[in-house]
Amino acid sequence: MTHFVDYLISAAFGNIKDAAKICSKYIVGIITFYGDVFMIKKVHVKTGDTVVVLNGKDRGKKGKILEVSPKEGKVIVEKVNLVSKHVKPRKMGEQGGIVKAEAALYACKVQILCPRCNKPTRIAHKICEDKSKDRICKKCGETL
Ligand SMILES: [Zn+2]
Repeated sequence: MTHFVDYLISAAFGNIKDAAKICSKYIVGIITFYGDVFMIKKVHVKTGDTVVVLNGKDRGKKGKILEVSPKEGKVIVEKVNLVSKHVKPRKMGEQGGIVKAEAALYACKVQILCPRCNKPTRIAHKICEDKSKDRICKKCGETL
């Protein structure tokens, strides 16, 4: 699906910059350029954001994003989706055993926690005067 959209957009617009402008109106996400070909990454959060998990066994848990993998559309959230890993001692004197580690979860299952209204929120984009984009909270308008 993503490839198809990429193709359509590249085909429809000769100019990449125009295409990016048009795309960003409809698609909330990060648009990354790879030379002439560009892909639309639909991860709405970035590293360091505080998020709330919406469903699954960790529903309601809050944590900081440690890592984003746009390719898979997944994120790793601090202290969320913990799995036990059985680790064997690799070096002399190292202790083996069961280690808890965070596993990636789909980015669509988390929502950003707004620091001002303290609620999970969706993000709106505001174009500033210098053409840069600001992320704002849809509920209270706070810049994130
Ligand atoms: Zn807010």
